[in-house]
Amino acid sequence: MFIKDIFFPKFCLNCKKPGGYICLKCQKKLLYINFQKCFYCQKISLYNLTHYNCLKNFYIDQVGSVFYYNDFLKKIIKNIKYRFVKEALDELLKLINPLNISFLEFYKKISSDIFIQPIPLHKNKLKERGFNQACSISLYLNRLLNFPIIDFLERVKETKNQAQIEKRQERYLNTKGAFRLKKQIDNNLLKNKRIILVDDVITTGYTVNEAAKVLKKSGVLKVYCFTLAQ
Ligand SMILES: [Zn+2]
Ligand SMILES: [Zn+2]
Repeated sequence: MFIKDIFFPKFCLNCKKPGGYICLKCQKKLLYINFQKCFYCQKISLYNLTHYNCLKNFYIDQVGSVFYYNDFLKKIIKNIKYRFVKEALDELLKLINPLNISFLEFYKKISSDIFIQPIPLHKNKLKERGFNQACSISLYLNRLLNFPIIDFLERVKETKNQAQIEKRQERYLNTKGAFRLKKQIDNNLLKNKRIILVDDVITTGYTVNEAAKVLKKSGVLKVYCFTLAQ
């Protein structure tokens, strides 16, 4: 036991059992998504690729998520984001069995010119939280797949938490124009590249779609999205 564990004892975020944030019993509540579908229309699709027709309204070519966004995962993510418990995220990442993520095969087939871009936080939010959860997940993916991490995007709009907005139209407006390419990034760097956008959760998809729009308009060939939960 470390000294900090005496001052800040850890409890399971679900059943309050002491020892860690996700106890052995509650681990079973983490459910892997094992159905491959198009995120846009939610109908079956190999490797979660977006259907050709669905791409007319959606900038992301593939969305892959590890777990279902059930009550337990909601609790974990809430604690990570709003109570700044970064260790809970590290614990969660360690629990993932890559063999249970079927669509990883898809990324492995694409060998070159593929990069990982975490969805950036607005600088004020980063200051408040102290870390970007999307960066921790990107590091995890980088260790798994060996694709380099890039930092080309910035968040220029301080958006409200999407979960607190009920109306779809307002959620859409909330994220509209939220991202841009960093000033020093030359568009030629992005030409014909493939980029995996990384975030903790995808719900409506508006946020990542806005980021994907910026990338595609800068010449990126394919934009994929990897999230912990959906
Ligand atoms: Zn528990
Ligand atoms: Zn579709």
